[in-house]
Amino acid sequence: MKALVVEKDDDGKTHAGVQDVDEARLPDADVTVDVEYSTLNYKDGLCLGPGGGLVRNYPHVPGIDFAGTVSASEHECYKPGDKVILTGWRVGEAHWGGYAEKARVKAEWLVPLPDGLTTRQAMAVGTAGFTAMLAIIALEDHGMSPDRPEPVLVTGASGGVGSVAVAILHNLGYKVAAVTGRPENEAYLRDLGADEIVPRDELVETTKRPLESERWQGCVDAVGGPMLARILGQLVYGGSAAAVGLAGGADLPAKVIPFLLRGVNLLGIDSVMQPYENRLKAWRCIATDLPMDKVEAMLEPATLEDLPDLGAKILKGQVKGRVLVSIK
Ligand code: NDP
Repeated sequence: MKALVVEKDDDGKTHAGVQDVDEARLPDADVTVDVEYSTLNYKDGLCLGPGGGLVRNYPHVPGIDFAGTVSASEHECYKPGDKVILTGWRVGEAHWGGYAEKARVKAEWLVPLPDGLTTRQAMAVGTAGFTAMLAIIALEDHGMSPDRPEPVLVTGASGGVGSVAVAILHNLGYKVAAVTGRPENEAYLRDLGADEIVPRDELVETTKRPLESERWQGCVDAVGGPMLARILGQLVYGGSAAAVGLAGGADLPAKVIPFLLRGVNLLGIDSVMQPYENRLKAWRCIATDLPMDKVEAMLEPATLEDLPDLGAKILKGQVKGRVLVSIK
């Protein structure tokens, strides 16, 4: 089978390339999947390169998510012919991933493809879009509502998480403000449903004021760092920010004042270990709440051969929207 394999040489340097790999090298697990599509996330960029501390053993097959058809199963929940999605569970990091014609994983890690989605659409959404949906569900559980007048802020808006978040929020009837450091993406973001573009510079400037004007009823944050700290002081009373990513840094140089005086919430979003029921719910919401024509507009098609270059680009914040990898 064809697979994209990352190898590490004696000097510790990694090299990624497409190889013919014997199926006998697939890991031990109960469900084998013919992979049809995969995708590219920020974490894939790390695993395609030096590993970012995520990869345990080399040679390694990256790809943190995939969708395809079950070809063999020793588990009662799946049979050959079933369409499935995998995201998370450290597949593509600690375990062999989706950048291959076949993958073998634990049945508990899979979810059935929801009605209304194809495997191609599922990977057009991928971990990034799935995580955006988890963030929106968490924000709505904490009071965010399209009935409120204030906009919802999306940071890192041109990226995978951000683009899908903008499209879903717009479709649900929210006013959406999109933060971007790439002004050239304004038309793209407005087409996805952004009502307002907020230049990244406006939010990376630090301020000594722990509270600013109440601007956002919620925030899907892919950036973290000083930007998230600043946003906490701009949330409306009782508003919430969902911390999804760290494209702008892992430190959070924030004050506790917005929590104490405005009762704001900071919600942590993890896509990797989400329980099964939450996964099913998020994928069902994606099938109903995300307009697929918007997703098509986000797509950059790719093959396994393109991934080493694209991995380096995503780490530099140079990928727009979603990369869809056709495996066959
Ligand atoms: P992308 O690279 O596609 O998007 C990140 C976006 O952030 C960029 O497109 C850019 O948008 C913006 N950005 C990049 N660098 C900076 C910077 N230095 N300061 C401010 N903004 C910046 O990545 P994804 O959308 O796939 O992932 C986004 C984040 O979410 C990553 O940190 C990723 O690890 C994390 N993540 C977390 C998950 C979880 O389970 N919690 C799951 C999936 C992703 P623009 O040019 O528009 O400003």
